[in-house]
Amino acid sequence: MADPAFRQLPSVDRVLRDPRLAGLLARYGRSRVVAAIRQALNRARERLAAGEFGLAEDLAGAVTAALAPEPLRLSPAINASGVILNTGLGRAVLSESACRALFDAAGRHVPLEVDLGTGERGDRQLTVRSLLCRLCGSESALVVNNNAAALFLALTALASGREVVISRGELVEIGGSFRLPDILSQAGARLVEVGATNRTRLSDYERALSAETALILAVHPSNYRIVGYTASVEIEALAALGRQAGVPVIYDLGSGALVDFAALGVPGASEPQPGGAIASGASLVAFSGDKLLGGPQAGILAGDAACIERLARHPVARVVRADKLALAALEATLQLYLEGRAETEVPTLAAILRPAAAIKAQAERVAAALRSSVPEGASVRVVTSVSQVGGGSFPDAGLPSWAVAVRPLSGSAARLAGRLRSGRPAVFGRVAKGDVLLDMRCVADAEEAELMERLVAACGEETSDG
Ligand SMILES: *Cc1c(COP(=O)(O)O)cnc(C)c1O
Repeated sequence: MADPAFRQLPSVDRVLRDPRLAGLLARYGRSRVVAAIRQALNRARERLAAGEFGLAEDLAGAVTAALAPEPLRLSPAINASGVILNTGLGRAVLSESACRALFDAAGRHVPLEVDLGTGERGDRQLTVRSLLCRLCGSESALVVNNNAAALFLALTALASGREVVISRGELVEIGGSFRLPDILSQAGARLVEVGATNRTRLSDYERALSAETALILAVHPSNYRIVGYTASVEIEALAALGRQAGVPVIYDLGSGALVDFAALGVPGASEPQPGGAIASGASLVAFSGDKLLGGPQAGILAGDAACIERLARHPVARVVRADKLALAALEATLQLYLEGRAETEVPTLAAILRPAAAIKAQAERVAAALRSSVPEGASVRVVTSVSQVGGGSFPDAGLPSWAVAVRPLSGSAARLAGRLRSGRPAVFGRVAKGDVLLDMRCVADAEEAELMERLVAACGEETSDG
């Protein structure tokens, strides 16, 4: 501290008297401004100690920057990645009617847990359960925070301290941090693996059943396929075996497809539907709300009323409870299915079913407008693309699509993609062979003008500092 340089740093009081900080004092109060000044002075002192020149430090500027509000992370982005259920971009986009329900439930009081007939305490899942039962043909249903929580609850409530029989080919990892064997052991259940990675037969399950068996678990291997010499046991046969042995069979479907995508002409679609699995005799099915269903983040359990009742009464059910916003959005989404409006109004379904010709027309519109706006900035073409459903849903299905390929005439495609990501709204494309590819499948008509503005600005910046 003997160094005279340190003595030249101003006192907190002197910085506080800087007229540029008057506005901050009025807005944030003295104690927050003083704390920010102390931090700025500490940093200046550290820099001086490190031999970096720090006296010219703009302390008032540093304090202003430290107190400036953070830009919100969750502001809208444009998904031109071609991945419909893009985990990085928040998976499913909600329908307008789900957004309205969410908005109302958020900003107004709602009779969440009131019995409207008696005025007494009611059941928050009454309506959503009834909608799910009608859609899945199940006796009962329960909604929790997400599908991982649904599995954890089911395993904890039904199999803690006992055995769970599962095929080796179905011990999946989903999205890095979610591994089925880990969930099982956290739930206190013992894993009994049967069969081989590529082949499991009914007799393998039969041999594994014992007095210790709590349940049989089947898992739809959402995000990969075992191909070639394979065999797995159909859910009907497993369910029959379970019934015979008095053991419940739980089927984790991953994505809950409430429509038959194969029948709607989607290539490579082979997703089991909850209704089909329940009709085949599964005691319980579990699936996500925000994958193929196209609703809010939620985990949905449907099936046998006695099983659901046991889960609903377990203390873990309270730990993984769905909130009123998710329930409001899910009710509205399920209503669209019941009314036959899901294929056009649920954005996930609309994007999967969107005709390639409409995507091409949109790509040509955007390309033409871009060419006339940035004649010097970039070369712009319309090219074929392959969209993915994403979210671990039908991995075989590449959906034929169209993209605008933008090649900056100076600077790199990676840098242009970076600029597109860092503006508002952030635009997400993919970089391939020197182009930024903007797959139009998930770009709403209403987003076209914004997308154009961001593209013109980003290409303009490329030329100005390339
Ligand atoms: C995605 C998935 C899960 C996890 O669902 P979340 O809703 O993301 O928690 C569980 N099981 C399978 C088979 C999945 O595909």
